[in-house]
Amino acid sequence: MNVQQVPSTDFGKLVARHRAYFLTGKTRPVDWREAQLTALAAMITDNAKDFHAALWTDLRRNWIEADLIDVATVAHEADYARQQLKTWMRPVVTNVPQMMQPGEVRVRFDPLGVGLIIGAWNYPFFLTLSPLIGAIAGGNAAVIKPSEIAPACADVLAKLFPRYMDKDAFSVVLGAVPETTALLEQKWDHIFYTGGPAVGKIVMAAAAKHLTPVVLELGGKCPTIVHSSANLAVAANRIAQGRWLNAGQTCTGVDHVLVFKDVKEQFLSLLKDSVIQFYGKDPSRSPDYGRMVSERHHARIVGLLKSGEVFLGGQHDSKDRYIAPTILVNTPLDSPVMQEEIFGPILPVLEVGSVEEVINYVNARPKPLGLYVFAEDLEVAERILGATESGDAGINDCTIHPLVPELPFGGVGNSGMGKYHGEWGFRAYTNARGVLYRGTAEDPGVRYPPYPSKPGT
Ligand code: NAD
Repeated sequence: MNVQQVPSTDFGKLVARHRAYFLTGKTRPVDWREAQLTALAAMITDNAKDFHAALWTDLRRNWIEADLIDVATVAHEADYARQQLKTWMRPVVTNVPQMMQPGEVRVRFDPLGVGLIIGAWNYPFFLTLSPLIGAIAGGNAAVIKPSEIAPACADVLAKLFPRYMDKDAFSVVLGAVPETTALLEQKWDHIFYTGGPAVGKIVMAAAAKHLTPVVLELGGKCPTIVHSSANLAVAANRIAQGRWLNAGQTCTGVDHVLVFKDVKEQFLSLLKDSVIQFYGKDPSRSPDYGRMVSERHHARIVGLLKSGEVFLGGQHDSKDRYIAPTILVNTPLDSPVMQEEIFGPILPVLEVGSVEEVINYVNARPKPLGLYVFAEDLEVAERILGATESGDAGINDCTIHPLVPELPFGGVGNSGMGKYHGEWGFRAYTNARGVLYRGTAEDPGVRYPPYPSKPGT
C-alpha cells in the first residue's frame, strides 16, 4: 500500500477531519485561498521534472504537450485564479423592488464545504488540479482521487500534496474502483467527476443519496465538419493535431470527420501529409507520438481497426502499446468504431452532402462534448451551431479550447453537466447566496394582515 493510501474504512474519518477543519472557517479568508493557489503553482513548477517523467511513463507524452496541457498550463491557471480571486469573490449588489425599500440585495459566493474530485487518466494532472483550483478559489476543502489507470502520475500527486498543500484541507487518495466506490458512499458537499458516461451515472446515483451537487465531465463522439469553403490545409493540420494529440486519448479530440463530398479527396490527401509531417513515415519512431495508456485500452482500439477501409496507418504493436495514426474511409455508420467514443488514434472520415445532412446527423445522436466546424463561410458555421447542441464548440479549430482559462468548459446531456475553468470553476464551487438586507426605520403596515377586502366583494 502506498504511504498516502487511506484504508477505505477510514474514509468516514477522513471526510470528518476535513469537514471539521472547514467548519473552523480557516479556508474562507482570501489570504488562505491565495496561499494555497500559490502553493499549488509552486508544487508544479518546483517539480516539473517529476510531472513530465510521470506523463512519459504513463502515456509517453512529449514534453511540449505535457507542458501545454498538464504542467505549465495548470500552474498558470492557479496563478491566474490567484490574481482574479478578489474580483470573483466580490458580492454582486442589486436593487430591491419598491415594496422592500429601504433595502439592498447582495449575492455572496459562499464555499460549499468538502468536495470529492475524481479524475480521469488521459490528462491526469489537468483533470484533477484544474477542478481543485476552482475548489480552492471557492474556499473549500477537497479530497482528490486520481485515476489508477495512470499510476505514475497519481503517485506524484500523492507524494507532493502533503509537502505543499494544507494537509488539514486536502488529501490525495490512491486506489481503484473499490476505493472510489467507498469514497462515493460518504456524504460530500460537492462531487466533481471526470470520466466516461457509464461511471458518471454511478457517481450521480451515489450523489443523489445525499442530494450532493455534481459536476460531471463526460465524453462522447465529437463530430468535426469540413465544409467545401474550408481552408483545407489549415483544417488538415488542426484536425491531425486534434485527433493524434496524446495518441487520440483526448475527451475533446476529433472523434470523426464529416467532410463535404466535393473536397473529400483533397482533404484526405492533405490530412495524410499533415500526419507524415508531424510524426514521420514511421510514427512508432517519433518522440512526439504517444502510446495507449494500458494493454487493455490498446486491445480495445485494435478491435476497432476493422470497422472501415484503412486509408493511412493501421499498424500496431501490443508490446509497445503502439497504434499508428490511422485514417479510416468507407466506414459504415453501424460499424463498431461509429458506435462508441473512439478515444484512440483512429479517425473515420465520412462524406456528407449538405448542411441539413450534418444537422440531422448531429441531432440524431447523443449531445457531444465538442463540435467543430471548419468553414470560411461563417454563415454555414453559425447555421450548424444554431441548429445543434454540444458542450462547447470550435470554428476553424478543435480540441484545444479547454486551454482558454475563461471559457466555460463542460458537457451537456450525455457529455456531462456543469462548467468550470476560471470564474466558472469558482462559481461551480460556491453557493450564490442571495441576501436581502433591510433597513428598519420604516415598516409600513400595508404588507401585513388583516388585508382590505377584494374590490367588488
Ligand atoms: P477512468 O477509468 O480513469 O475512470 C475515471 C475515474 O472513475 C477513476 O478515478 C476511477 O477510479 C473511477 N471509476 C471507474 N470505474 C468506476 C466504478 N465502476 N465505480 C466508481 N468509480 C469508478 O477514466 P475513463 O472513464 O476511462 O475516462 C475516459 C472517459 O472520460 C472518456 O469517455 C473521455 O471522453 C472522458 N473524459 C472526459 C473529460 C471531460 O473533461 N469532459 C476529460 C477526460 C476524459
